[in-house]
Amino acid sequence: MKILFRALLCTLVAFSAGCATQQTATPASVAATTSQSAPLLLISIDAYRYDYLERGLSPTLAMLADNGVRAASMQPSFPSLTFPNHYTIVTGLRPDHHGIVNNTMFDSVLGKFSLSNRQAVSDGRWWAGGTPIWETADAHGLRTATMFWPGAEANIHGHQPDEWMPYDGKVTPDQRVDKVLAWLDLPASRRPAFLTLYFDAVDHAGHKYGPDTPQVDDALRETDAAMTRLVQGLRQRGLFDKINLIVLSDHGMAGTPLQNSVLIDQLIPQDQVQTVSMGILAGFNPKDGSAKAASAFAAIEHQLEQPQQHMRCWDKTRVPARLHYGGNPRVPQLLCLANVGWRITTTDYLASHKGDVSIGEHGYDNADPLMQALFVAHGPAFRVGAKVPAFPNVDVYPLMTHLLGIPAAANDSDYGAVKDMLKPAAR
Ligand SMILES: [Zn+2]
Repeated sequence: MKILFRALLCTLVAFSAGCATQQTATPASVAATTSQSAPLLLISIDAYRYDYLERGLSPTLAMLADNGVRAASMQPSFPSLTFPNHYTIVTGLRPDHHGIVNNTMFDSVLGKFSLSNRQAVSDGRWWAGGTPIWETADAHGLRTATMFWPGAEANIHGHQPDEWMPYDGKVTPDQRVDKVLAWLDLPASRRPAFLTLYFDAVDHAGHKYGPDTPQVDDALRETDAAMTRLVQGLRQRGLFDKINLIVLSDHGMAGTPLQNSVLIDQLIPQDQVQTVSMGILAGFNPKDGSAKAASAFAAIEHQLEQPQQHMRCWDKTRVPARLHYGGNPRVPQLLCLANVGWRITTTDYLASHKGDVSIGEHGYDNADPLMQALFVAHGPAFRVGAKVPAFPNVDVYPLMTHLLGIPAAANDSDYGAVKDMLKPAAR
């Protein structure tokens, strides 16, 4: 009632300084003002490890950090893989809760999921465990546009971004930037309030050559050039100081020399299990529902849960609590997590993929320093030159719903952990 009265009073004495102050002191009205005046652009630089900024090859990103907020690092959710973490960032849910538990999954109803399976990637049923921020934005009348984001190609609960593109690695970083700028040029009635932008060159170079290589350095330069193009485009439009930018990554990257391979076929008879995933987090289920398969599987589990040299294995019910993982039906029954710098593979795979094995990897324990991600934010709502401590990536979500002035869906987040990034009037 008091707020209503103030609003009424302010309508009568429109534009008086007193009313402006009163309005910015009310969180709800700040949010409403923010969403109307400042769009939010969420940028992911896949596999940009938190310490890459120190290489001095990302001057535009450094400029944004210096004039905005930089976190010491941001902790990915487990497993530190691309799809699980991108969906965590836009839902505020850990992978075990939103259901994108790996890049490669098996679901008893939906079958197989993998990044290259376009039919699965665009099937909303895989993503229905979370409510992505563009869904809530849409439900509250805000326009949204995604220049690539996991989940954006699917109709989830009857919602999809107003503008989106099917993933195509051949679209250059500059073309991606230009698309975002074109969306910002739309007439006010169609202009998005929430946008995403995604760069993957740093991830590709990290996998192919390893993190500490000139090729990753080149990818850092190339990506920063696209960021420079973005900032110039925003400046030309008079938008640079009017848009809130969050630039982050999904995880870091560790070197994985070819010889650091756990040959799982020497430990698990491959014909006695259903292999769901390989790589850094390998997952296995019993071969079928028979009593014979169950007893063979129990014996395999018992053997693998003993200490291993270069990995740790758990039944999904015994995963350490700090990883927040194992409760989702899509998590395979037996999990083997490689030690940092190692991979889990098979003799056959290595033989048939000679010279084509990633020597940089992520997906490891999300507490490992090499897995830590980037977080930088800049814009009218953010403090200037603020350094904040490391925080978990589930907390990006409530920061974004607050900036957009929309309610948060059920989540694993803590707004209190991130609100100090904002200027007091925007909290
Ligand atoms: Zn990634």
